[in-house]
Amino acid sequence: MLDVESIRDDFPILGIKANGRPLVYLDNAATMQMPLPVRQALQYHYEQVNANVHRGTHYLSHESTKAYEEARETAVRFLNAPSQRNIVFSTGTTGAINTVALGLRDYVQRGDIVVATVLEHHSNFVPWQQLCLEKGAQFKVVGIDQKGDLDLDELKRVVTGGAKIVACTCCSNVLGAVTPVHDVVKIAHEAGALCLLDAAQGIRHGVLDVQELDCDFLAFSGHKLGAPTGIGVLYGKSKALELLKPAWFGGEMVDIVTTEKTTWEELPLRLEPGTPNYVGAIGLGAALGYLEFVGRKEASAYEDELIAYAVKRLSEIDGMHIYGDPIHRSGCVSFNVEGVHPFDLCTLIDKMGVALRSGNACAQPLLSALGCTAVARLSPAFYNSFEEIDAAVSTINRGALMLRN
Ligand code: PLP
Repeated sequence: MLDVESIRDDFPILGIKANGRPLVYLDNAATMQMPLPVRQALQYHYEQVNANVHRGTHYLSHESTKAYEEARETAVRFLNAPSQRNIVFSTGTTGAINTVALGLRDYVQRGDIVVATVLEHHSNFVPWQQLCLEKGAQFKVVGIDQKGDLDLDELKRVVTGGAKIVACTCCSNVLGAVTPVHDVVKIAHEAGALCLLDAAQGIRHGVLDVQELDCDFLAFSGHKLGAPTGIGVLYGKSKALELLKPAWFGGEMVDIVTTEKTTWEELPLRLEPGTPNYVGAIGLGAALGYLEFVGRKEASAYEDELIAYAVKRLSEIDGMHIYGDPIHRSGCVSFNVEGVHPFDLCTLIDKMGVALRSGNACAQPLLSALGCTAVARLSPAFYNSFEEIDAAVSTINRGALMLRN
């Protein structure tokens, strides 16, 4: 059992007032709030350790490098990656996926097939689409069934024919649909394709073990689990990372530079050009540690209870349309209330202290498939309470009634 009351003490922001009302923050799929231990780790680093990593011979540089590489080791343990070679720090999920898509620009050739799913956030859709357009490759998009679950039969059909890459989310940031990632990886591999998993949402929902999953790449962002913005992780199998041609060049990622040519540093540094966001990485390490401390399985199970309760309570609202009814919904629920624009609804309830997201959730292909252009999205985290869900639902109800009349 999670002790939500004492967990909330680690998140002072949850106690503020928004527009004069007690804040009910339910936009965690966009960004989760930062717990005190992460802020303390950042403050400690700036006050006691700060110096550029890897390059210096002095005390602070050694200490800073040690802290940065310890954060990498924390990510190794968190994902059960084989070694530090397999963890590349990135700017976030978007940065990680672009590193892979750009890095595979010689690997993907004219006529090749690259597969994504209609569930993808633009981050795991547009980089592949653009790569295909540039290389004259075929970009194929796998659909979903009536309930919003990934259509595995279609995936099987699409990959046979020689797919080179399958890019799939672990969990939709609109429907909350958890995808059968083990099956996706297996289907991709049987077709000889590399498989990249977008774990931006999935990382906080359950325990992802990259060796057990057998995925070739996995990406996630720190700010969705309590770390600062601008930091994330690209996990890759060594062989998969070695396929990547660096897309950004500069200091630290090189081995020998002459006027004629340049050779690259070993992994993972060859994919981390320039001064890395080492303070962000240290914050990320602290956030991963905090999640371990709270209990990853417990936090995720509790979030599933909150989301199931939110779906039940939202369904009681007159004119409510909830998108999808997936086998396993995790992290978020998207909806519209008949006759009310989600932007108006979310703007109005914000005046009453309730923070939800409205818009296309960076998933326009999915919203078109669902037959809408915008949704309201409610996404709890493990520090939210059932009372907050009740408060949000009654505020949504009130807001919808006000806007309809
Ligand atoms: N993928 C999914 C499923 C997401 O939900 C998000 C962010 O909402 C992203 C990718 C992009 O993450 P970031 O903006 O942190 O790079």
